[in-house]
Amino acid sequence: VPDTADAVLEGLDPEQREVATALRGPVCVLAGAGTGKTRAITHRIAYGVRAGILQPSSVLAVTFTNRAAGEMRGRLRQLGASGVQARTFHSAALRQLQYFWPKAIGGSLPRLVDRKIQLVADAAAACRIRLDRGELRDATAEIEWSKVTQTVPADYALAAAKAGRDTPRDPAEIAQLYSAYEDLKRARSVIDFEDVLLLTVAVLQDRHDVAEQVRAQYQHFVVDEYQDVSPLQQRLLELWLGDRDDLCVVGDASQTIYSFTGATPDHLLDFRGRHPGATVVKLVRDYRSTPQVVHLANGLLAQARGRAADHRLELVSQRPAGPEPVYGEYPDEPAEAEGAARRIRELIDSGVPAAGIAVLFRTNSQSETYEQALADAGVPYQLRGAERFFDRPEVRKANSALRAAARFGGNDSLLDDVVDLPSQVRAVLSGEGWTTEPPAGSGAVRERWESLAALVHLAQDFATARTGATLSDLVVELDERAGAQHAPTVQGVTLASLHSAKGLEWDVVFLVGVAEGMMPITYAKTDEQIEEERRLLYVGVTRAREHLHLSWALARTPGGRPSRRPSRFLKGLRPGSGTADGRAAGGGSGGVERGFAGGGGAVAAVPRRTQRTPARCRVCGRTLTDAGEMKLMRCEDCPSDMDEGVYERLREWRAV
Ligand code: ATP
Ligand code: MG
Repeated sequence: VPDTADAVLEGLDPEQREVATALRGPVCVLAGAGTGKTRAITHRIAYGVRAGILQPSSVLAVTFTNRAAGEMRGRLRQLGASGVQARTFHSAALRQLQYFWPKAIGGSLPRLVDRKIQLVADAAAACRIRLDRGELRDATAEIEWSKVTQTVPADYALAAAKAGRDTPRDPAEIAQLYSAYEDLKRARSVIDFEDVLLLTVAVLQDRHDVAEQVRAQYQHFVVDEYQDVSPLQQRLLELWLGDRDDLCVVGDASQTIYSFTGATPDHLLDFRGRHPGATVVKLVRDYRSTPQVVHLANGLLAQARGRAADHRLELVSQRPAGPEPVYGEYPDEPAEAEGAARRIRELIDSGVPAAGIAVLFRTNSQSETYEQALADAGVPYQLRGAERFFDRPEVRKANSALRAAARFGGNDSLLDDVVDLPSQVRAVLSGEGWTTEPPAGSGAVRERWESLAALVHLAQDFATARTGATLSDLVVELDERAGAQHAPTVQGVTLASLHSAKGLEWDVVFLVGVAEGMMPITYAKTDEQIEEERRLLYVGVTRAREHLHLSWALARTPGGRPSRRPSRFLKGLRPGSGTADGRAAGGGSGGVERGFAGGGGAVAAVPRRTQRTPARCRVCGRTLTDAGEMKLMRCEDCPSDMDEGVYERLREWRAV
């Protein structure tokens, strides 16, 4: 923990410091990936708290994911600033709604719907619209989009046409379905994810007393990943603010990747227009990635078009030179997955921690092939955004039982004599088949027991952390965790979609499926959609600190017709792609694993750009001069934030 407020600023460069010390008034940070936006706002809050200028409980920091919120809270604790609320829009709204609902509406908040897609299916059946699975998913996305853009069923057709939405059915049918879905939800007294924001907005709009109470609680707002804020989230933010403007937003228009859900970078790009007195700071030093990775990222953006691209900032890497990105071409998808898995196995065997490696893909449906390949190679992995704990049937059932007990607990003789929270949870779960001792043997019975035992542990930890917490508080906590799909973390290789990888970083990144039809995805047709696909690739590339692999397969299945070509976005950037025929980079022989031959022709063809920027400590940012420190990339006296041997091993691997 830094000794003083000023010490909190030590790990920042001058522009980041400007952000951190501009504690009042509107502040907007426009900057590219890896330039330390998240770091700057975290230090800003910590500095304000440590300097006694910000009350921790009066700050609301909004992040894009629950994981990011957790990371920010952890970082704030390390900087000596605990007690700050770091939440997603959704979780902040849910908390407020839960608190104000009994007073503003009466009764308790309806429960969150467990399986939305089923509800949409039921609504479709009710209005006799037959949809296959894909259409059902697309129709659900249309309903979600309507809600975050605050479009009512009657306006859907017009709004969808205006926004160029690809509707799975006649827009009139979608509107009818949307309306039936809303009715069904009310009839079953459940609410969905979007309702949490819509209802919070409605309560804050209609009830001045409630709005005043929220505004009295929160005085300072910080929003990360502001380029992807939806109109509904923006509305909520405005209601939280009232007529004040103590707001600090950070974002990168080139990382707008959620516009299909109604998000828009316009709020970020128009910030100064809406807040004429705003302090606007631009950051260009990239602390995350090597010059080689940054060079590719800049190259991708140089070809970008549109409003976001007009605001791009060339990134300048602060890190020592690293390996060139590696390009791999495979005959088919299983071969591509196997190639990546083999490479990952080698890395892990040479000592690289699995947690420092990620495989990123365009669509979640690609994960299956990679799960299989990694399992075959004996590589532990975790699927981001798809951890299944709260989806398990026994956990869902147990959660409903807990919810019911929390709601009727007062009448309920079962819980009347049970005094503490963990005992209450055990009492409820024993009705679900939980026993003190685990059942004999392994298999499904044991697995079910393990899940329930995990809930009991969770309740114990929760009761320890929050004295006086009730069963209802626990249910709220479980709902939030379920929303975040927080499962116990495994230290494995991360498998993630590009969308769920935003804001994160790994030492080694495998970007797979970088082919036409995948990136851009086939259904991206309009110029805007294509540009969003390019931005997705940019987000993927900029997740890599050191090693970047980009690969594609020429056919989907073994023996299939080779019909795929490498992504158009790599044209002119990947070696050997300067010609119009789009043929793959040269290199190895036989066409298999060409790019992964380990620095052969494909790699050598890229002119090595070594930027003459000073090496800096990756922990505190101080310029390094000592050769030993430069090798470690941190000051001798700075704590290591990762296994320091990693870089050594990566270098060895590169040299092979
Ligand atoms: P993204 O756009 O991907 O969200 P970002 O701009 O939020 O990126 P951060 O995640 O804050 O960037 O920072 C990227 C990496 O660079 C992190 O590992 C962070 O610790 C490091 N970093 C940022 N600023 C500095 C600095 N001044 N000195 C040393 N390291 C830094
Ligand atoms: Mg960030």
